[in-house]
Amino acid sequence: MQIELINTGSELLLGRVLNTHQQWIGRRLADLGYEVARQIAVPDTGDAIRQAVAEALSRSDLIITTGGLGPTSDDRTRDLIAELLNRSLTENIDVMRHITGFFKRRNRPMPDSVKVQALIPEGAKVLMNQCGMAPGLAMTDSSFGNKKRFLLMLPGPPSELRPMFDQQALPWLQDDVFRPVGFACRTLRSTGIGESRVEEQLRERLDHLVEQGLEIGYCARKGEVDVRIIARGDGAEALVAKAIDATRELFGRSIYGEDDDCLEEVIVRILTDAGKTLTVAESCTGGYLAHRLTNVPGASKVFDSGLVTYSNEAKMRLLGVLSKTLEEHGAVSEATAGEMADGARQKAGTDYAISVTGIAGPTGGTAEKPVGTAFIGVATRESTTVLKCFNPVERESFKHMTSQQAFEMLRRELLRGGG
Ligand code: ATP
Ligand code: MG
Repeated sequence: MQIELINTGSELLLGRVLNTHQQWIGRRLADLGYEVARQIAVPDTGDAIRQAVAEALSRSDLIITTGGLGPTSDDRTRDLIAELLNRSLTENIDVMRHITGFFKRRNRPMPDSVKVQALIPEGAKVLMNQCGMAPGLAMTDSSFGNKKRFLLMLPGPPSELRPMFDQQALPWLQDDVFRPVGFACRTLRSTGIGESRVEEQLRERLDHLVEQGLEIGYCARKGEVDVRIIARGDGAEALVAKAIDATRELFGRSIYGEDDDCLEEVIVRILTDAGKTLTVAESCTGGYLAHRLTNVPGASKVFDSGLVTYSNEAKMRLLGVLSKTLEEHGAVSEATAGEMADGARQKAGTDYAISVTGIAGPTGGTAEKPVGTAFIGVATRESTTVLKCFNPVERESFKHMTSQQAFEMLRRELLRGGG
């Protein structure tokens, strides 16, 4: 089955919006055994979209478009595809009701222009938009080369596209279009081991399974390596399961999760299971740890509070860091990080606290403490540990890397404590 992805939107070509659909859909499909053979981004002009869709219909079995389903004059995907396939457009009562309700619930007057979103091409399956107005559309067509083609139109905003894809488009794809058989794929996520070491050790351990057809892929990010394990044909799942067990055994606690897991989710999960609470005291990460933790649904059960103590005064006033400590060791020091974590945990009365203090740069570095230096503290009811890190990267990456290390440090502590 040849799949082609067409991302519409002039903003993608002007570099104003990063085309995340390409990566997100590509990965979702690949993990289920579908392969995208071709992808193109086109501007919102009628000609560009028409041409891209017509070309795709002439060579591919499934065409997925994103964007251009909204109410504005640059949203033309639905009209153009209906015209191309000679389908009339009819107003759908359920979609119209959904749109009217959307405005009623928000207590806003409904402009006439939004009604176009209820127009559905003849024969199209409606994928209701749970997070917005414009529905997605799934169609079958045989007018191009007498071969059955499938078309899937998805809305542009990621917050609308992603749930629609998972909840409605995938079942349609698997049940009505094509379901790859004998395909298994799982991804293990690791931290704290370099990519080449992961690869070297795994090759040795999994060699006999590779001979049986196992495929291993690596994806390295800063401080992390994902290991993607794939098998095809009869017994694919058993082969992958065997490889997963062997990999987990080899890397133990360095494996923090599987597939879409991220560290903050894992931490919230472990704390929730153990009935423990957490507070964070941040300097150089400026609230990024708290932001990541509060992105996890259900974090309120375990996350008590987060303080951004950027100045020395705030570190003393809010966390009880001693002025002597700051004078003798500086704000970016093992001693300060320790007192920040201790103070935060005691003031919040939580089971755990994380503290972070560092020099994000580009200014403020010294020979002794260059830009990129960070100290991370983890306090428990029994003890406080501080780790020195060095992340000499630009500010935003610095925040991300430092937060990863902080979460990883807490995760290890939680596992050690039997949490
Ligand atoms: P709307 O009803 O919001 O107009 P739409 O289906 O018409 O939705 P577009 O107008 O094409 O979609 O895009 C809406 C917004 O969604 C864009 O401004 C952009 O922020 C985001 N978006 C669109 N395509 C992509 C993409 N490929 N990757 C990431 N974001 C995208
Ligand atoms: Mg739009």
